[in-house]
Amino acid sequence: MGVTQTPRGAVDAQIELFHSRLRDVIGVAKWETWIRPLSVSIDDGALILVAPNRFNATWVEDNYTHQLNEIASSVWADPFEISIEVAPAPPVPAPLDEPIPIQATFDTAPPGNNGFPVTTNLVARYSFENFVVGQSNRFAHAAAQAVAEQPGRHYNPLFIYASAGLGKTHLLHAVGQHRLELDPAATVRYVTSEAFFNDFINSIRRKRMEDFKDRYRKVNLLLLDDVQFFEGKEQVLEEFFHTFNSLYEAGNQLVISSDRSPRDLRTLENRLRSRFEWGLTTDIQSPDIETRLAILRKNAAGTATPVPDDVLEFIAQNVADNIRELEGALTRVTAFATLTHERVTLDLASSVLRDVVRLQSEEPLTADIIISSVGQYYEIPRSELTGSSRRQPLARQRQIAMYVCREHTGLSLPRIGQAFGGRDHTTVMHAVEKIKGLLQTDKAVYDQVTDITQQLRTR
Ligand code: ADP
Ligand code: MG
Repeated sequence: MGVTQTPRGAVDAQIELFHSRLRDVIGVAKWETWIRPLSVSIDDGALILVAPNRFNATWVEDNYTHQLNEIASSVWADPFEISIEVAPAPPVPAPLDEPIPIQATFDTAPPGNNGFPVTTNLVARYSFENFVVGQSNRFAHAAAQAVAEQPGRHYNPLFIYASAGLGKTHLLHAVGQHRLELDPAATVRYVTSEAFFNDFINSIRRKRMEDFKDRYRKVNLLLLDDVQFFEGKEQVLEEFFHTFNSLYEAGNQLVISSDRSPRDLRTLENRLRSRFEWGLTTDIQSPDIETRLAILRKNAAGTATPVPDDVLEFIAQNVADNIRELEGALTRVTAFATLTHERVTLDLASSVLRDVVRLQSEEPLTADIIISSVGQYYEIPRSELTGSSRRQPLARQRQIAMYVCREHTGLSLPRIGQAFGGRDHTTVMHAVEKIKGLLQTDKAVYDQVTDITQQLRTR
């Protein structure tokens, strides 16, 4: 039976069946997030999936192509092409066509706004343009952009978690600024959880709760930073629960950051924790060496003191887990050079950063240490890891070990090849690329790499 000749009602039923089978296979939560927003149609023998935005489309393509193909051929028997497209962005309505945005009266707003309604307290430097994208933050960045472009629609709330100094605050500000670029009439509010808490307490004391509610419940985009601060503070949690509901029900967007995943915010009541998980949750990992170097280059380009590449590399190699510290290290070096009227050199940098460097790496990681550590982790002798057998899962474990070497030592591809029993550098390159790809699609690989890295760090 040709797909194109099927009557309309039958096609609808087939699409429904297609959806329900997919839902069974990938689970309701993932289906809700990624598949339900797609509009599905059949045209000229092709199954057309239209995603509301590029982020959604790419995600589906990268993660569900296999299931889509399999289920489509189970529903339609005839194998046919699946095409994933992106819906054209809806035009931003001209301000006049919009209902007048609700502006709160900001009589308790921070000083310095001259009585005008505050729509923003965003830091210009924290923009998407200034955000360097790498493996470690790619997903969070893409999600943040998607939310800035289509707030309130698909990923609400967007919950970003990461340890300190990895770019949470930067991304929250970037979402706000990008939203305002796209729609200057939008009301955007960035607030730290601590400021929200203080404002709440003051508003109760001064009996100004109505103003408080207006301030947070009637914005189009609320950016709430460091929500872990709410832990154990029952009254403010109750209040924020209602804030959340008002915003959510009105289709306004929330972006929340935390130093932990919602699951690990243990003292948050369940109803709030589960709401955090309604939308999209994403983490940011520690940046790899290339990303660290790119961030340093960007920063160095903005300073008056020229910083040679070997110095940037030195810093990138020695400060690994916190971008704030990374920037701080560069600042210390350039500041010292300026103060002493010296040129920035590797010698100068290593003497200025002596203490930092000693702290970060008592003993620098070598291929040897990594091979032993990976061997212990998988419980295989190191001779296997450096040996020639290509059976699985050994071959994959060896690729992971090579990848970790590439990420956490300064070794070149040929040197890594040598350490793994004299392999060619192209083999190492292939392994690194392979694992990089798998990290984004294969949770097991992702977890193993994370565990191994953790183990190395705390050795
Ligand atoms: P967090 O809120 O997670 O503690 P921040 O957002 O304050 O971290 O980031 C710390 C510093 O690092 C800021 O100066 C920020 O601009 C910078 N930073 C973080 N991630 C990036 C990135 N991907 N590209 C450029 N700068 C970054
Ligand atoms: Mg922060």
